[in-house]
Amino acid sequence: MPELPEVETIKRNLQKSLLGKTISGILVLTDKMVFIGAGKISALKKGNTARSKKFSSALARQKIKSFDRRGKFLITQFHSGSRLLVHLRMSGQLIFIPKKLLARPLLLSVAKSALSELLPTKHTHAVFSFSDGGKLFYNDVRQFGHLRLVADEKEFAKLMAVQNLGPEPLEISEKGFFAALQTNPKRAVKALLLDQSVIAGIGNIYADESLFAAKINPSRPAGKIKSAEVKNLWAALQRILKEAIKRGGSSLEYFLKTNGSAGSFSHEHQVYGKSGELCPRCGAQFKSKTVVGRTSTYCPHCQKY
Ligand SMILES: [Zn+2]
Repeated sequence: MPELPEVETIKRNLQKSLLGKTISGILVLTDKMVFIGAGKISALKKGNTARSKKFSSALARQKIKSFDRRGKFLITQFHSGSRLLVHLRMSGQLIFIPKKLLARPLLLSVAKSALSELLPTKHTHAVFSFSDGGKLFYNDVRQFGHLRLVADEKEFAKLMAVQNLGPEPLEISEKGFFAALQTNPKRAVKALLLDQSVIAGIGNIYADESLFAAKINPSRPAGKIKSAEVKNLWAALQRILKEAIKRGGSSLEYFLKTNGSAGSFSHEHQVYGKSGELCPRCGAQFKSKTVVGRTSTYCPHCQKY
């Protein structure tokens, strides 16, 4: 599942390929994946052709001013003031192909399935064409993600207020991080790390990796963590997120960089998804348990409760 480093990777990729470019047209292939306005998106996500048409015509001829990231949201801002927000959820992909490469099948090299495919694939839900002939494909196998268009600054601010995102982990101070973990001292530290309103952008991978690095058990109540340990966790989070961004994120199931290649941080994972393997630090066997509905892998010997 794409987390902060993966969305940041996409943002940086798109900045290189698409900044200043103009959209010439949008083809929506799956109506339920596109939304307009700041309203709530229901779990059912019903779509309709009229909405897709409105979405497409509102985006046509828009020129890209900037790409930003907030938590796990990718935000494209246009010169008109409108914005396109993308949330990749479980399996969203944004693949950009310049005009000269469009006729060639692209090797979509995810660890689980390295497939040469000609885009659009059966999992492509929207195609953005650019005035220079390049195309951006939005793929999503599981279809939990979405694209959302907001008209202006005011609507964007309203949407962000509803999302109620906590501070960015790469911007928060050590003090601020300590305070964030004290918002609910009885809750498991991992639950707080995953709560987007406490701190934004962290998911299962980077929560498990940073807790392992800081030697803290994922289900330990946040209020019982000593300030020296919080400092270690804050530092580990900063280091791991920065390194993951440098390596283009973690490609485990579906995440890809915008050129279709895999991010390499998955090779650096110490604990995530490694239940039953041996801890490289102490040699004990990693265990896994469910914390707030998510599988957490940890070392029962050196991650203190
Ligand atoms: Zn260990």
